[in-house]
Amino acid sequence: MRFATKAIHFGQEPDPRTGAVTAPIYMTSTYSRKTQDEYAYARGANPTRDALQKNLAALEGGEAALSFSSGMGAITTTLTLLQKGDHVIVTDDCYGGVYRIFTRIMKGYGIDSTFLDLRDLVDVEDAFRPETKMLWMESPTNPLMKVVDLRELAVISKAHEAISVCDNTFASPALQNPLGLGVDLVIHSTTKYLNGHADLLGGAIVTNRADLQEKLKFSQNALGAVPSPFDCWLTLRGIKTLPLRMERHCDNAEALARFLKDHKAVSNVHYPGLPDDPGHRVAKKQMRRFGGMLSFELREAAKIVDRLRRLEVILPAESLGGVESLIEHPATMTHASVPKEQRERQGITDGLIRFSVGIEDVEDLQEDLERALS
Ligand SMILES: *Cc1c(COP(=O)(O)O)cnc(C)c1O
Repeated sequence: MRFATKAIHFGQEPDPRTGAVTAPIYMTSTYSRKTQDEYAYARGANPTRDALQKNLAALEGGEAALSFSSGMGAITTTLTLLQKGDHVIVTDDCYGGVYRIFTRIMKGYGIDSTFLDLRDLVDVEDAFRPETKMLWMESPTNPLMKVVDLRELAVISKAHEAISVCDNTFASPALQNPLGLGVDLVIHSTTKYLNGHADLLGGAIVTNRADLQEKLKFSQNALGAVPSPFDCWLTLRGIKTLPLRMERHCDNAEALARFLKDHKAVSNVHYPGLPDDPGHRVAKKQMRRFGGMLSFELREAAKIVDRLRRLEVILPAESLGGVESLIEHPATMTHASVPKEQRERQGITDGLIRFSVGIEDVEDLQEDLERALS
């Protein structure tokens, strides 16, 4: 089965009794054991969740997937693979919640982390210590759209017997499959492109490694950050149009990246689809297209928030990956908790804007941007 067919059918065979084409929503906390022993209690397993997990595994080319109540639920569950005294190398341009959990919570459990620009493979090699047990990657990153070489990094991680993890939220499985590049675990915030309609929170872990799957399945039940059957059903419904949506996200983002690059109010555009973008070469190797996320810098950072208020179609909001276009100012919104000095060092300047390009009519989006930038 090819990708778009899997998205619609995998894990969702018609109900054997009624022939229902759509997977039922099993709203139940427990199961009678009179006639079966497969299902005991809904924290451990639920048939609607099973359908979603099978579907997600197929989309990433994995053996198994686990679903969670949020992306952070998937991430915290992944971190149960670590023990006191372990060390983790994390991409420096990571999702804010990941930065927060490593610096504010894991540290207290005796787990040390190093934040690093993973584009420099020599630096990555040098950062490994005997106790380094995990390499945490994102590509493209948030918000600077840096692209890292997942295949090369997976090789380095394996040589040090560390677990390689890639948060694949920005690309979605439609554009990039890290397991096929040798990565051990793929993480998703299904809140974003997979569900795609900005109406729920969800997360997932996908893997080909049976040893990790077994431990993580245990932790899924033990920690309990599991999704509701209704959210699983909505996510399955969203996924059916993922391939179509991603094509349109990419078309719109490619057109608007070019528009912004030529705009006199804009000094820089970060989008791996632009031929002169520093990430273009590696992105071309490991992604099918370049995605719906981009960021850009205004020449004049003053009044940036006022400018965003002039937008009529594009909404100023956090989050990404939905059908609607969302724009945000990392310095005062998603990355406000990162100290200014560190932010600027990373390139998250006061003039930087992150744009989740939706699937609206691209002319309306372009006119809207013109309104805010002129
Ligand atoms: C949103 C996001 C998360 C966290 O997911 P939630 O569903 O909000 O908990 C993790 N990683 C990335 C890249 C994200 O964009």
